[in-house]
Amino acid sequence: SIVVVGSVNVDLLAQVQRHPAPGETLHGTGGQMLPGGKGANQAVAAARLGARVTMVGAVGTDAQAEVALSALREAGVDLTHLAEIEGPTGLAIVTVAEDGENSIVVIAGANDAMDAGRVRAAREAIAAARIVVCQGEIPRDGIEALPALVTGRFLHNPAPVMELDPAVLRASDPLVVNQHEAGLVLAQLAGEAPDAPDTPAPTDPDAVVRALQAQAIASVVLTLGADGARVADADGIQPIPPAPVDAVDTTGAGDAFIGALALGLARGDDLATAARLASRVGAYAATGEGAQPSYPSADDTLPALQE
Ligand code: ADP
Repeated sequence: SIVVVGSVNVDLLAQVQRHPAPGETLHGTGGQMLPGGKGANQAVAAARLGARVTMVGAVGTDAQAEVALSALREAGVDLTHLAEIEGPTGLAIVTVAEDGENSIVVIAGANDAMDAGRVRAAREAIAAARIVVCQGEIPRDGIEALPALVTGRFLHNPAPVMELDPAVLRASDPLVVNQHEAGLVLAQLAGEAPDAPDTPAPTDPDAVVRALQAQAIASVVLTLGADGARVADADGIQPIPPAPVDAVDTTGAGDAFIGALALGLARGDDLATAARLASRVGAYAATGEGAQPSYPSADDTLPALQE
């Protein structure tokens, strides 16, 4: 089974032709309120594909909580370890421009309650899981409490990147990052401030992966958007081809990728096999609007990899 420890949000989507300049008011072309949050997205992605998933997270006491939980419930995710915290549910305000580029403001709300104490309260579920997944939308000490509780694999997606104990980064197996996040993680492992690295990150994907491996990270998945991904573990570095699609909205495509990766690893696939499935699921998610509503079920036909 899979345990996801992470954020549960509502995404407030605004479709626009272009992003507004500071101080400017624009007429949007559409708007929706949808369930989101990287943690919930990844849990829904795995569950919809058929995995047994438990969500460890928190929502607020507002009306948005039910929206935030709607797809988790529909997908059959175990919510026994979901806390209800007095105050607002996490909120992401997402502006989607016609070119498909997003800009996002995240308000943590109840996700801020997911500290080490609340994470440890779910220790039995965490210890029983084959795969434990986490991201960067809960407090630092909640994430740092995880490696000591995990007995399976720790699938760590440090997004957004925050300052973390390097031991937590090195406990990741795999560490899943895009190129931007990889640069920030490398800077941090080199002892530089994560938000203002002095050393430019390598741009060649293989060089990025090798640099992460040189930091004693057991396995790495580098996602490359429409270019697919790279995986690296004891078997070496392998390119994972993309599944070419006409992208409509890439919001949550990375989370769909991770949910599918977790499903593959939980059923015993090797990293490259799991990443090949993940690449197809990430591409599928890019063809529909929003995050969770665009995720495939086990019955949906996934796009083929470009071999
Ligand atoms: P993030 O959104 O976290 O930066 P990426 O953009 O790297 O993540 O996307 C994650 C994965 O989703 C990619 O590795 C790829 O498999 C898939 N993906 C994303 N965008 C596209 C696209 N335009 N075409 C095909 N696959 C895509």
